[in-house]
Amino acid sequence: MRQQITVLGATGSIGVSTLDVISQHTDKYSVFALTGNQKIDLLATQCIKHSARYAVVIDPQSAVILRSKLKSADAETEVLCGVEALSEVSDHADVDIVMVAIVGAAGLLPTLSAANAGKKILLANKEALVMAGGLFMEAVKASGALLLPVDSEHNAIFQCLPPTSRGLSGSGVLRLLLSASGGPFRGLTTEQMVDVTVEQAVAHPNWSMGHKISVDSATLMNKGLELIEACWLFDATPDQVDVIVHPQSIVHSLVQYADGSVIAQLGNPDMRTPIAHALAWPDRIGSGVAELDLFDIARLDFTKPDLENFPCLTLASEAARTGMDAPAVLNASNEIAVQAFLDRRIGFTQIADVVKETLSRSIFKEPESLAAVQESDSRARHYAASFILEIER
Ligand code: NAD
Ligand code: MG
Repeated sequence: MRQQITVLGATGSIGVSTLDVISQHTDKYSVFALTGNQKIDLLATQCIKHSARYAVVIDPQSAVILRSKLKSADAETEVLCGVEALSEVSDHADVDIVMVAIVGAAGLLPTLSAANAGKKILLANKEALVMAGGLFMEAVKASGALLLPVDSEHNAIFQCLPPTSRGLSGSGVLRLLLSASGGPFRGLTTEQMVDVTVEQAVAHPNWSMGHKISVDSATLMNKGLELIEACWLFDATPDQVDVIVHPQSIVHSLVQYADGSVIAQLGNPDMRTPIAHALAWPDRIGSGVAELDLFDIARLDFTKPDLENFPCLTLASEAARTGMDAPAVLNASNEIAVQAFLDRRIGFTQIADVVKETLSRSIFKEPESLAAVQESDSRARHYAASFILEIER
């Protein structure tokens, strides 16, 4: 029997790579549902190619356009519309695997639905864990869902940990070493980054990704979000996670053990490797990624992160240490600030200013429920948006 997959965010960078891997293994996997918010032409093409049973879009106008495109191609895909429909195709009884490749806080509700329904979850979206890690990990535990990290660093750590470990305690692990490329502005000072453009910020040297995560990689907020993600996934404290800058993006992360061993996972920087790993786990399947040629790479460099010129990493690690709803506030204000930068309303270095200001104005409390997380999230968005009105260019 083929496993049925829902791909949330099918039209994005991770979604497209996921469908590429699936199309190499049609004997094992079939597409249940595909979702997308923009690029309706691409979503239609994907639904036709993969004979998706359902497609989900968010706004009614996109649904009308998608239905007409699918009808003219005689496709049998049923089009659903709205955020609730994202959850319907995530916890549906016929679904085996849910790939979460929606960007940002919009990924939270369908990911929780998949967790509550005990699905195999391939998690690329990191914002959901950062916002509501406690609630999410509880849901996974209660339902027996299988959570497999797709973010390349966390997938690497997962591969380097002992197969039976549930967290670090008792496993002989000293610390997790989280790789960072340093992004397109590695080596620059704050002054040199004041006037960088959107185009420069989204041009990552090693990875091809969506705009939001590309900007996060350039500010190092991505690494900060990943530090928080690692704490939830591997039951680690922030002190057990060290960020190491490795500009070649070949060593995707490492685990340091008490006996002196350090185990690393290496590969070409192509997300189809962690996607294929998570899809087939505990088996291995081909991904279409070129074999790693170590002679071609020849050298691998490692340095410490520049915390002075990249304050977002420190803001995130402080939020991780503060706990409670500080990570949700960090994430929400960052999403608003990154969008304002992409809209050319604020400068690149002001992203950190917005996040710092929002955090400093917040009184943190333990989010006991989903509603409490959503309240912290919207309060932080509101504050960040009004601060941007004060500082915008
Ligand atoms: P992307 O911008 O290329 O794609 C995002 C997808 O989410 C698209 O399908 C889009 O239509 C959909 N989407 C956006 N807003 C939505 C909303 N409000 N409601 C419903 N759907 C919405 O992003 P990406 O680069 O593929 O990244 C996706 C997620 O995976 C992010 O959380 C990112 O941090 C994470 N991730 C990406 C990479 C990568 O290499 N691209 C690596 C690691 C982790
Ligand atoms: Mg990553």
